[in-house]
Amino acid sequence: MYDIVIIGAGITGSMLSWKLSRYQLKVAVLEKENDIAEGATMANSAVVHVGYDPEDGSLKAELNVKGAQQYEAICKQLHCTYKTVGAYIAACGAEEEQQLLVLKGRADARGIPYRLLTGDEARAEEPNLSENVTQVLDFYTTAVIYPWEVAIACMESACQNGTELFLNAPCLNINKHEDCYVIETPKGIFRTRYVVNAAGVHAEEIHNMIAKADWHATPRKGEYYVLDQDAQPIRHIIFPVPSKEKGKGVLAIPTVYGNTLIGPNSDFLDDPDDNGTTVEGLAYVRTNISKTLKNIPLNRSIRTFAGIRPTTTCPDFIVEEVAGTPHFIDAVSIESPGLASSPAIADRIISILAETLKLTENPDADMSRRKPVVLADMTPEERNALIAKEPAYGKIICRCEQISEGEILDCIRRPCGAKTVKGIKKRARPGMGRCQGGFCEPKIVHILAAELGISPLDVVYDSEKSNILESENRL
Ligand SMILES: Cc1cc2nc3c(=O)[nH]c(=O)nc-3n(C[C@H](O)[C@H](O)[C@H](O)COP(=O)(O)OP(=O)(O)OC[C@H]3O[C@@H](n4cnc5c(N)ncnc54)[C@H](O)[C@@H]3O)c2cc1C
Repeated sequence: MYDIVIIGAGITGSMLSWKLSRYQLKVAVLEKENDIAEGATMANSAVVHVGYDPEDGSLKAELNVKGAQQYEAICKQLHCTYKTVGAYIAACGAEEEQQLLVLKGRADARGIPYRLLTGDEARAEEPNLSENVTQVLDFYTTAVIYPWEVAIACMESACQNGTELFLNAPCLNINKHEDCYVIETPKGIFRTRYVVNAAGVHAEEIHNMIAKADWHATPRKGEYYVLDQDAQPIRHIIFPVPSKEKGKGVLAIPTVYGNTLIGPNSDFLDDPDDNGTTVEGLAYVRTNISKTLKNIPLNRSIRTFAGIRPTTTCPDFIVEEVAGTPHFIDAVSIESPGLASSPAIADRIISILAETLKLTENPDADMSRRKPVVLADMTPEERNALIAKEPAYGKIICRCEQISEGEILDCIRRPCGAKTVKGIKKRARPGMGRCQGGFCEPKIVHILAAELGISPLDVVYDSEKSNILESENRL
């Protein structure tokens, strides 16, 4: 019998399992996909919002501020990238300047540091800012991360401490028994005292397995352009003034590795898994980014992508024990700023659990993980010394991002290691560059096949059925 089963290995489930792994508990994480962080956590703006945006009195406001405050230390502890770039909220004209005053008031009340700049002062630091921008609120402690890196790192550390991760294990049904819940999956039956529903856009289906939800999932798509690293049109994250209808609006975001994201739009979806980009969505992004920025080189786009927000009819996060169903906890409606809030969402769930579950610290728990080798961060002397010891680090596989075979082998061999081409891309970044895997992907297929002891025909790009090669055609 498990103490806790967490359904979903996005940032909510992964952060929670990491924080729970310091206690003496038997925890399982069930993930329907073939890797960690495949839902909203895989495709978003990657911003650690500091907490000025959510409405006063909301759970979002409380958990955003508390979560963002923990992020830098967590990233340091888990050896994840964290880059403070600052966020400019750009107002065009008197009406939007009034809106900035509302955000400024929230920031004052929540202890969030900022600077108020005139349009010209802001343009001196960010020359690409539109001439229409008259005032800027600069939240200079705002950072960007690699969201899936944090989720994977959390899960890696949790699994080292004994958490059990089951991939390709969708929760199909849940039955409530007197002393436990029984969860059915294709990987078997899981008996558990507590359940945490962190299933993102599918959370309503999970909730309805034990009680009828009084909210409904209303997933919303957001689409983006990714610009090449050498086209860096901005230094800060540039936001328009947020609105009730359009949320945070279309942004420009400098990512941790020097690419720029432009997006997202915000369109309701019928199919919660429809993550394709659309002509209309990208046209909306193109039109709206020109409101705050003068010149965005969209001709330097190397790819487009879309993410799906796990929004519901409830405008706030729902992080609570389900009424009338003891020991079943929802972590649902986790739309933006869910990434930034995730450390505090986990803390809130742990405090709910602690009301009825004895939490005893595990003295052997190690809350860190082994630092991955990143060749690009090393001095030439350090690289030479490493290559002399381990020649695989001297063989560059991804030319765009300069990723070596050694780094790829390491990310396959780590706990919760990569088993798919996309899994390697998420962990070590080959294929993230200009050629988008055009040169390195065939080599990666062969490295994966050799490491996993399978035929290259059985190597998949992402899901269990996404084989890349169909048949051997050499004569
Ligand atoms: C376009 C966009 C931009 C965003 N920008 C930001 C931002 O800049 N900053 C920020 O803080 N937040 C942002 N967010 C919000 C943030 O991405 C989400 O709040 C966060 O990723 C939600 O994490 P999660 O783990 O709750 O959900 P997910 O990441 O969706 O994880 C849910 C997991 O549950 C799994 N699952 C579903 N059904 C089942 C089942 N039956 N059995 C087992 N597993 C199941 C899924 O496969 C998935 O892996 C953005 C979101 C989007 C879409």
